Amino acid sequence: MITQQPYVGRFAPSPTGRLHMGSMVAALASWLDARSQGGTWLLRMEDLDPPREVPGAADDILRTLEAFGLIWDGEVVCQSDRHALYAEALESLKRGGHAFGCVCTRKDLASTAVDGLYPGTCKAGLPDGETPRSWRFDMPKDVQRWEDHGRGPSSVAGDAMGDFVLKRADGHWAYHLAVVVDDADQGVTHVVRGADLWTSTAAHMALQQAMNLQTPEYVHVPLVKNDLGQKLSKQTRAQPVSPRDAADVLAKACQSLGQPIPDVDAPHAMLQEALASWDVSKLRENAVS
Ligand code: GLU
Repeated sequence: MITQQPYVGRFAPSPTGRLHMGSMVAALASWLDARSQGGTWLLRMEDLDPPREVPGAADDILRTLEAFGLIWDGEVVCQSDRHALYAEALESLKRGGHAFGCVCTRKDLASTAVDGLYPGTCKAGLPDGETPRSWRFDMPKDVQRWEDHGRGPSSVAGDAMGDFVLKRADGHWAYHLAVVVDDADQGVTHVVRGADLWTSTAAHMALQQAMNLQTPEYVHVPLVKNDLGQKLSKQTRAQPVSPRDAADVLAKACQSLGQPIPDVDAPHAMLQEALASWDVSKLRENAVS
């Protein structure tokens, strides 16, 4: 674990829609945690999945963050500009015997997957003459343990993830590979993000170990749910947050992070007050999955 390095945090939205309350809470938490420690806060656009992207969403996310006073340091980094880094990482995983080619189609997996996980079909090698459709990570079965600053002592068994995809059959890079490569390349020391990625942290740590990269500190923040108890997302038709309602949005975000609600009205003053009172240990009291 990293202890003495200067704090580098980041917010890493996917441009699959406008910012909703759930993504706003993650953005605010990572900004507050970074700024309260005098750290750097980077913005990385995770635009690796064009079929799921919405035109204009990336720009809209940036303008919304600015309107809320969440200003990042340096240039926005776009994953779509970084294919060479991911290709290099995949080659190094192949060389180390950590990645294997797979010819299974979605249809094959619909009948062979066990509990929704890859059954290991292509792990022992492909029949002669077959070319891989996708590349997968040979996920170690051991339990990954870390001290999560949002949720307390955490452990996830390697087989909860299965041998996940690194490069998809449609040629796109998978999130798990890109996020690990980029966090390491950008020197990120603290990853503050939604609790929906808590289990994925086991995959990220296993990749870091396979590539000899440092493991950052992790802070998983409570998910915001709608009245039906569903995680806010495009699929559950979450409404975008509007800077016009900034005071209300910031109050709700502080509340869902277990922090005191700032006792001032102007959004920028609220942000400063939230910063002054930010206490990461309060997240644990609110930690529900
Ligand atoms: N891009 C991911 C998302 O929007 C978040 C990645 C992360 O913070 O590690 O869900």
